[in-house]
Amino acid sequence: TPATHQPSAAGQVHARVEIDLGERSYPILIGSSLLDDPATWSGLPKAASALIVTNETVGPLYAARLQQALRPHYPQVHVLSLPDGEAYKTWDSLNLIFDALLSRGCDRKTVLFALGGGVVGDMTGFAAACYMRGVPFVQVPTTLLAQVDSSVGGKTAINHPLGKNMIGAFYQPVRVVCDLDTLQTLPERELSAGLAEVIKYGPIHDLAFLDWIEANLPALRAREPKALAYAVQRSCEIKAEVVGQDEREAGLRAILNFGHTFGHAIEAGLGYGEWLHGEGVGCGMVMAARLSQRLGLLAEDKVERLVRLVDAAGLPVRGPQLKAGHGEDCADLPNAQRYLQLMRVDKKAEAGEIKFVLVEDAGRAVVRGAPDALVAEVIDACCA
Ligand code: NAD
Ligand code: MG
Repeated sequence: TPATHQPSAAGQVHARVEIDLGERSYPILIGSSLLDDPATWSGLPKAASALIVTNETVGPLYAARLQQALRPHYPQVHVLSLPDGEAYKTWDSLNLIFDALLSRGCDRKTVLFALGGGVVGDMTGFAAACYMRGVPFVQVPTTLLAQVDSSVGGKTAINHPLGKNMIGAFYQPVRVVCDLDTLQTLPERELSAGLAEVIKYGPIHDLAFLDWIEANLPALRAREPKALAYAVQRSCEIKAEVVGQDEREAGLRAILNFGHTFGHAIEAGLGYGEWLHGEGVGCGMVMAARLSQRLGLLAEDKVERLVRLVDAAGLPVRGPQLKAGHGEDCADLPNAQRYLQLMRVDKKAEAGEIKFVLVEDAGRAVVRGAPDALVAEVIDACCA
């Protein structure tokens, strides 16, 4: 064996979750040492070439290892590294993917591998949906957020200067591989952001899981493999169940946006990148829970319990004061009115009516509107 060839540890699959979407069904493999094991990548569509899309942070850590493991399966394995950050989730980056595919002679069977967080996953998925009208792609999520949420379900997108995720497609991967080992290099703040999306699944669908998260939060923050494995597995199971019933968000799927209506307003109002998506969701869940309480759906002790959990996950529980927007209609708006204004342009709003995901004592979610005055009171009570 050449000196560069390191014997790879055999991958260990802890759990396999099936996404049941008829002919678009696919498995999520959750485990350790999966990245390096050629067996992880068996049974994928055959092709003359594969392209790993990653970024300048994740690439140096993991791309060579994935490339090595894919070599037995594809004659050519190319790697493309994009700039890192939400600011690069753009047409320009998408074009870099198309440039790489075309200049390397990739054809309509080429398999794309998205190696990175949600930004890389969303962009690579969209590129796969478009290139030659659709090529297969595999999600290899390396952030907790991407493993429990963005890599599953087939939403792909890029941002437009006028709105986040506004240009995209529903396009399912052929496989999702969550190698839990990659989470060991994740910055602390990103780990907490991912925990927000884990916590979200409790109040909307599974109170027993909420109990489990509460009991295992220290283990999760210490990145204990067993705890991470179960958190990823249960989150994917719940997302699979919801997406399996409503792939294109005709209704039910919207409950996965618990905390997101307020969260998106915070992200947009502060300027993207100021707060992480998961931080907005964490604080947004607190606001949505308080609104649920004000509407008589959720008991106060349940609200306080959620606030303690979000706080213990290392996430903000108080909302920020948002900057005024541009233009005359935005200047000098009171803070709560600025939140309301931002929430009205959210994708989930219908004809200007803001739809909130609210939660009930029994661990179920409802999607409905609420009076502006009541929402404003909740925002004022939640903001520092
Ligand atoms: P991200 O992709 O920006 O990753 C966060 C940071 O961590 C980046 O700097 C990244 O380079 C770095 N990183 C990734 N993996 C690492 C690792 N293993 N070790 C060290 N550093 C690592 O952010 P994210 O939170 O993963 O995803 C957010 C994006 O996902 C947003 O664009 C959001 O819109 C999207 N999203 C999509 C869906 C969906 O259903 N498609 C759902 C939720 C979020
Ligand atoms: Mg989210």
